[in-house]
Parts: sequence; C-alpha cells; structure tokens
Amino acid sequence: GPRVGVLALQGDFREHALVLASLGAEVSLVRRPEELEAVDGLVIPGGESSVIDKLSRTFGLAEPLRAAIAGGLPVYGTCAGLIMLADRVLDGIAGQETLGGLDVVVRRNAFGSQNQSFETELEVPALGATPVRAVFIRGPVVESVGAAATPLARLDDGRVVAVEQGNLLGTSFHPEITGEHRFHEYFLSKVRARR
Ligand code: GLN
Repeated sequence: GPRVGVLALQGDFREHALVLASLGAEVSLVRRPEELEAVDGLVIPGGESSVIDKLSRTFGLAEPLRAAIAGGLPVYGTCAGLIMLADRVLDGIAGQETLGGLDVVVRRNAFGSQNQSFETELEVPALGATPVRAVFIRGPVVESVGAAATPLARLDDGRVVAVEQGNLLGTSFHPEITGEHRFHEYFLSKVRARR
C-alpha cells in the first residue's frame, strides 16, 4: 500500500493511523524531517493547533512541511490539522502560525461555548449520496474560501466545514473517530494518483 505518515507531535494521531492501516496503507508516525521524507502522503490530526504549531517549529519540521506541501505532497488535516493547512487563522493564540497551502481563512474554536462539541449529518456530494456523520470537537469553521480552494461540505447555516485544493484536504470534524472512512479513502486516492 501507499506509504502514509501521520504527524505525531500532539493530538489524535493514533486514531488516524488505525483507520489508514485498515485501508491498506503502510503507516508511519512522523516527528522528524527524515520521517517526512519517507512518506507519499501525510495526515495532520486533530488536537490543539497552537501546540502542533509550536512543536513543529521546535522540532525543525515546519519548513520541511511547508516545502512538502508546496511540492504537492497530499495532506489531509482534521480540525487542528485543517487549521495548520489554512493560509490564515483567526482567533489563534498570540504568535500562532500555520503551515498554509489551503487558500482559506479559518476561525479557531468557532462554535460558541454552548455548542462547542456536537454531531450532525452532512451532505458531501464528492463522497457520494450517503451523508457523513460528522463529530465536531471545538472545531474551526472556514470563514472564507479563496479562488483556489473548493468547499466540499457546509452546515445547514451555510458555513463551510470541509475543503480541498489540489492534493490538500481539510475537515473541521473528525471522521477518524466515527468509523467514517470515505475521507481517508479520498485522501488515499490522491496519494495513489501521485505516486
Ligand atoms: N480547538 C482546537 C485548535 O484550535 C482544535 C480542536 C480539535 O482538533 N478537535 O486547534
């Protein structure tokens, strides 16, 4: 199977690794630049984006990750991972940086305290007719989608919660914890196509 890395600095990387392995990928955890070089695709998990940002800079991974994204590496980010892939983040902590690549602006922790974590059914036409059961855990929303990016799913109120741009894919929610494997399959199809 394709060699897929999961960025394992912080967050729910184990859940992604299990899903990817169940789909036939050769999964490795990525914490160092050499480990990034050995993969054909990368998942950035959910967790806390400000921590993933800090650790990626501390471990010398931020620039290699930016270079890999610019070079066309397929990358799928969930929740904090989507924030890392966004060109711009609103409501980040002071000095918070992203890797960028997705021509979008995301707002961190976008659902008010009443509604920080919830589940809903989403229509995702790119993945077929069966809706996606989506779990949101203090997730971001995509506040604006630039010309280079494409929305894949919206909440009933119209806010965008899944996007793609070339080999980059991002969701505000967590398919890795609900048994929903179509986003990972879709990502793996990008990895296979590029190999
Ligand atoms: N609120 C987190 C952040 O800002 C994201 C939460 C998640 O990944 N479940 O990074």
